[in-house]
Amino acid sequence: MTTYTCSDCSMEVTSVTCGKCDSELEFKSISKDDGSTVGVSECTNGHGKIKSPMCCGHDMVAA
Ligand SMILES: [Zn+2]
Ligand SMILES: [Zn+2]
Repeated sequence: MTTYTCSDCSMEVTSVTCGKCDSELEFKSISKDDGSTVGVSECTNGHGKIKSPMCCGHDMVAA
């Protein structure tokens, strides 16, 4: 099970699941055009991706 952790306050959020197939979303870090990276959670069955949880103003990272 994936756990997202905030590096600032140690808040934890456990896995996010796909609304269509109910499987656990896979954490990915993708690069944007301006060179920054953004964390997303993507369905391994191709149902799309959502923004990863945020805390303290930045993306939470999957442990
Ligand atoms: Zn899915
Ligand atoms: Zn936080």
